[in-house]
Amino acid sequence: MSGTPELFNRKDFYRCLQCAICTGSCPAARVIEGFNPREYILKYILYGEQEELLKSDMIWCCTTCQICQERCPHGIDISGFLIHIMNLAAERGNLPEEILKEIRLIAETGRSIKPTAHTVRIREELGLKALEQPDTEEIRNILREAGLKGMLDQK
Ligand code: SF4
Ligand code: SF4
Repeated sequence: MSGTPELFNRKDFYRCLQCAICTGSCPAARVIEGFNPREYILKYILYGEQEELLKSDMIWCCTTCQICQERCPHGIDISGFLIHIMNLAAERGNLPEEILKEIRLIAETGRSIKPTAHTVRIREELGLKALEQPDTEEIRNILREAGLKGMLDQK
């Protein structure tokens, strides 16, 4: 359904037992009502309901912590599957504003968190060397190569 290569082995998912150990072990599912990796496997792989899932806000609740696949009796790569779903969703414009802001901050500063004056002062007090300015042009090139060009250019 897209030129994006799949980041998971689809055949592994045909062995999914729908036992729900993944959802039961998932820290995100524990606190976010409606987040359900087992159901996403069922919809996307087994029922072919890709479009609905790609429009969902819920998929962005996965932290890619990989606990689900550690506990899965077949070791199925559920976080790889969810990363793939998030990539496809982002390509179609389903990307949370907070993540977009983070991508732009990395593109502009080379950092995911801006160092504050307090950070700089503490580093000095600890005798650490001053933070170097990252090569943001190189970082922007990497982000463009990763398919984020359109998002970097949006205002
Ligand atoms: S734990 Fe594994 S087998 Fe069980 S529902 Fe999740 S992916 Fe399927
Ligand atoms: S990788 Fe995602 S789906 Fe799996 S346990 Fe972590 S948050 Fe849940």
